Amino acid sequence: MKKNFDMPTEEFKKYGHELIDWIADYLKNIDKYPVLSKVSPNSIINNLPKKPPEIQEEMSNIINDFKKIIIPGITHWNHPGFMAYFNSTASSPGILGELLSAALNINGMLWKTSPASTELEIVTINWIRQMLNLPSNFFGVIYDLASISSLHAIATAREAAKELYNNYDIKKLRIYGSEEAHSSIEKGIKTLGLESSAFVKIKVDKNFSMKSNDLKKEIIKDFKNGLQPFCVVGTFGTTSTASIDPIKNISKICKEYNLWFHIDAAYGGSAAIIKDIRSYLDGVEYAQSIVINPHKWMFVPIDLSILFTTKADLLKRAFSIVPHYLKTNEDNEVINFMDYGIQLGRRFRSLKLWFVIRYFGSKGLQNIIGYHIQLAKIFAKHIDNDKIFIRLAPVYFSTVTFRAIPSTIIDEKELDNFNKNLIEEVNNTGKIFLSHTKVNNIFAIRLVISGIRTTQKEMENAWKLLKKKCKILEKEFL
Ligand SMILES: *Cc1c(COP(=O)(O)O)cnc(C)c1O
Repeated sequence: MKKNFDMPTEEFKKYGHELIDWIADYLKNIDKYPVLSKVSPNSIINNLPKKPPEIQEEMSNIINDFKKIIIPGITHWNHPGFMAYFNSTASSPGILGELLSAALNINGMLWKTSPASTELEIVTINWIRQMLNLPSNFFGVIYDLASISSLHAIATAREAAKELYNNYDIKKLRIYGSEEAHSSIEKGIKTLGLESSAFVKIKVDKNFSMKSNDLKKEIIKDFKNGLQPFCVVGTFGTTSTASIDPIKNISKICKEYNLWFHIDAAYGGSAAIIKDIRSYLDGVEYAQSIVINPHKWMFVPIDLSILFTTKADLLKRAFSIVPHYLKTNEDNEVINFMDYGIQLGRRFRSLKLWFVIRYFGSKGLQNIIGYHIQLAKIFAKHIDNDKIFIRLAPVYFSTVTFRAIPSTIIDEKELDNFNKNLIEEVNNTGKIFLSHTKVNNIFAIRLVISGIRTTQKEMENAWKLLKKKCKILEKEFL
């Protein structure tokens, strides 16, 4: 009788080596791939069998199909020309860490179920805390995504509200964020069962930064109306324009009214390891929670998000349920991360973070991120020096928001269409991938430089393509 049903060791080695070689060549030649996948909807589905295979298939066939069917349907986030959304790229040490984590396949729900997972998480989070210059009373926990980190932060803020109001009423809770806040905040509010009116959107100024005077006014008004303000979400690097809310002012207001201050720094947080950028985050020491995504701009393969909070006890109270079978002898001496969130099981995510921080060092990471910011500033200068393109927001990080305004087009709708076509034309080259947003209800182009393989060459190429395609489109519009 066969005892071990898994792939034989020799076969694993053969294909393991083959795939590492494939990955190495893939990363080396990645700029030869079109950054944006060109497949049409359902083409992958139509190329795959409708029924699962009944009998064993050859590994070589599986790998061949991966190359033939799956790869064409890949949009290459690791591509140096990927400048859409907030790019997340996987560095090679991060990929190796992820590989080992897949091989170990531990579940870090309890300290006991893999002590190294819990302890490496504590150590790496502590490193990141120091790199961000956060006070030592910030406790950290790794989740998959910023959406989930913010959900936990809001749930914990709600826990705090139960102490704040002796006539606590979930229907009366109010939480504030700017109109530029990320959609994950509203999703979190929905998920937690708060009223749809619970989210109060505060207007932004011309730099897309929350008007803190308006915030204060809304809070006072809501108190007057018998509502129960409990939380303010500030954003450090908004999605559309990467703008920064006035962290210091908001923290003062939160302190004055005893509200939870959560900072969504999913993208911008990584850059706060640089001194100049960190200064915009002053006031964070009065916040109760902050989320950053090392998978976004710290070259850790997706997914890895860190939530820091000064109220670990409340976070635990909001989520901890320990059934008999999960009690251990060490419960009083250790952290069991299952107590700090919705999920029981946890992947060994800190391993890839550890690899990345050690391989590059904090100085190395500062250098790479600093370089990205520098490139974005050069790109912004190209825009500013141009007659047709205009910039729509300040550049604090590595995100530039802009659009083209050819002199021949006056109609707003036509301008929107022109810019839409322009993005399409640039993206169709397969060299550069840009995305769009709406700024003051205007269609805008967004360019983000945060990929570990992106250099000045790709940035200049993006600019060249924009100019070239713009010229061609202008002629067509005449
Ligand atoms: C990307 C982003 C999010 C969502 O991040 P996920 O990790 O994909 O959930 C939330 N807020 C901001 C500001 C972001 O940039």
